[in-house]
Amino acid sequence: MRRSLVLLSAGLTVLSTGLCAGLASAQNNTPRNLILFIPDGLRALKVTPETAPAMAEVRDKGVNFKNPHSLFPTFTMANGSAMSTGHYLGDTGVFSNTIWTNYTSAPAGDTVVPFIENDVVLGDIDEHFKGDYLNEETILKMARDKGLSTAAIGKVGPTYQFDHKDKPEQAGLHSVVFDDSTGGKNGVALSDEVKAALAKAGLPLASPPRGDNSKAGDAKTPGTTVANIAQQAYFADVATKVVLPMFKARNKPFVLVFWSRDPDGTQHNQGDSLNQIKPGINGPSTMASIKNADDNLAQLRKALDELGLAASTNIMIQADHGFSTISKESKTSPSAKVSYDDTPNDFLPMGFLALDLAKALDLPLFDPNDKNAKIEGNRHPKAGNGVLGKDPTKPDLVIATNGGSDLIYLPNKDKKLAARTIKALLEQDYVSGLFVDDQLGRFPGTLPLSSINLRGKAATPTPAIVVNFRSYASDCGEAPTNCSVQVADTVLRQGQGMHGSFSRGDTMNFMAAIGPDFKAGFVSELPVSNADVGMTAAQLLGLRGAQNGGLVGRVMSEALPNGVVPKAYKAVEKSKMSESGLQTVLNVQRVGSQRYFDAAGFPGRTLGLEPNPGKQKTAGK
Ligand SMILES: [Zn+2]
Repeated sequence: MRRSLVLLSAGLTVLSTGLCAGLASAQNNTPRNLILFIPDGLRALKVTPETAPAMAEVRDKGVNFKNPHSLFPTFTMANGSAMSTGHYLGDTGVFSNTIWTNYTSAPAGDTVVPFIENDVVLGDIDEHFKGDYLNEETILKMARDKGLSTAAIGKVGPTYQFDHKDKPEQAGLHSVVFDDSTGGKNGVALSDEVKAALAKAGLPLASPPRGDNSKAGDAKTPGTTVANIAQQAYFADVATKVVLPMFKARNKPFVLVFWSRDPDGTQHNQGDSLNQIKPGINGPSTMASIKNADDNLAQLRKALDELGLAASTNIMIQADHGFSTISKESKTSPSAKVSYDDTPNDFLPMGFLALDLAKALDLPLFDPNDKNAKIEGNRHPKAGNGVLGKDPTKPDLVIATNGGSDLIYLPNKDKKLAARTIKALLEQDYVSGLFVDDQLGRFPGTLPLSSINLRGKAATPTPAIVVNFRSYASDCGEAPTNCSVQVADTVLRQGQGMHGSFSRGDTMNFMAAIGPDFKAGFVSELPVSNADVGMTAAQLLGLRGAQNGGLVGRVMSEALPNGVVPKAYKAVEKSKMSESGLQTVLNVQRVGSQRYFDAAGFPGRTLGLEPNPGKQKTAGK
C-alpha cells in the first residue's frame, strides 16, 4: 500500500538552512537560565487575559505559537519524553502512560503493563532496559553534567523523567526533584542543602497530598470540584523560596522544570458533569484548575523579578497535550450491551477494547492487573488492560489501556493475527484511525507507524497497532478544539475528562515563550511540537548529546531574534480503503523534512480532520 501524498514540491528546499541562526549569543557565551513550565493538559484556546492572565501575558508579550502540536498518542509521559529529549516517541519508547514492557514489573504491581507515572516504576524500567529506558540523553542530565544547576518540580512521573537515570534514592544529590512522592518511601531523596533551605523557609520536607482533588467519584458519585491548590502551592513555594534563591546564590545558569498537574488532574476528575457531555471539561472546576496553574506561573515570574533574574531567564510554556470530554457511547460494541455493577447501562465499560477483541478473536482474556485472573461474564479488567491467548504468561495479544487511544502488542509478531485484529477493529464505531507496525506489513484502512514517527530506536517494545478513538465537537459554544468529545477507555465517566486521541482538541496544546533569547510580541503561524521544545531548549542551553535515534524535532528558529523563518506546507496522507470503505487519513504540516500531525482518523470520526484540505502553504514567507 502506498500513502498518497497531496502536496508540496516547492517547500522541500527551504529547510535546513537557518536552524542554528540567531543562537550565537546562547552558544558562545554563558547560556541564559531556562524555565520550562508545563500546564498539564491546557488547551491552547482556553487561555485568555481573564481565564489565565499570567499565561496570556507571556503569549502576548513574548512568542505566541498559534500552531502548536502535542505528539500522538497525546499522553503525558509520551510528550514529557519528547520535551526532555527532543526526540519523537519512536525513539524514546514512551508510547503512552501505560505500556507493555515484556517483563513483569514488581513495583508496578506485578504486571507486564505498568502505569509509568511513578518514580520507582521508572527506576525499575530503567534497570530492565540497560539503565536508560528512554535510550536518549535528557536535557536536564546534560545540563547538570555541564555544571548547570538543575531542578524538576511537580507532577510525579514526567518530573522525574527529566533526570531519571540515577536511582530515586540518589537522584536528589544531582537535580533537585520534588514531586508527589517527595518525603515518602518512594520519593526522590533531598540533599542536606535542600533540606536545610526548606527548614529555613518554613516548608515541610514532604509534599502534601492532593486531597479532595484526587477523588474521581464513580457512576453515581460526582468527582472533585476543587482544583489541586494546596499541593501545587507547596511546589510553587519550594520553587520560589528554596530553589530559585539557592540557584541565584550559586551564580551559575540553571534549568528549572515546573510541571503543574493542573488543569489535567482536575479536568480528569471533575464532578461538574457526571454522565453528561455538557458542560464536561468547561465547567467551574476546570476553570479553577486553569487559574491554579496560572497562579503558579505568576508566582514564579514574581520571584524572578524579586531575585533580579527575570532579564537573564527564558521561560518556555507548553502543555503536554490538549483535552476532551469523555463519551462512553457506542452502537456497535458487544461489551456495551453487557451490564456491569459499576457502569451505567448501554455505556462502554472500562476495558471495552480488550473485551471486544477477546470476543471477536475468540481468545481467552486475562487481567494483568489482577494476577492474570480470567475475565468472564459481567466483569471487565480492573485497569482496562488485557492479555489474550491460551496462556496468559505467553500471550498472543496484549492491550495497554490508556484513554483516547490504546496500544496493542503482538508478542509473536503474528501477521495473521494482526489481520484478524484489524478486521475486528474496523467493525467498531468507536475506532477512528489505525496505525500498524511497518514490520507486520501493510493493511488496507491503516497507515504505518512510521507515518507518525512511532518507529525508531526505542528500547521498549514497539506496539503492533495503535488504536485511535472517535472524537467530535459538542455544541459547547466555544472554538471546536475547546468542545472536543472523545470515546475513552478509562475508569472515568462520561462527562469527565480524558486525552490521548488524534482529535485536534487533544493535539492543540498551549505553547508560548518569553525571555532574552525569544522575540517579543511575535505571533508565529508555523507549526511547532513538543519535540521541538526539547531541541530548542538544548540549543538555548548549548547542549549537545549523543543521539541514538534520528527522529528529532526542530529548533524553533522563527521564535528567536534573527532566526530564520522557514516555510510550512499542508499535506494529507491517506491509507488504502478497507473492504468496508474505511480509510485512515492523516493531516500533516511540513517544515522542510519536519512533519507535524494535526489530526488523524476515519473521515467524520475525528475532530479537526480535513479529508481534502488541498495543496496549501500555511505559513512563512
Ligand atoms: Zn491526563
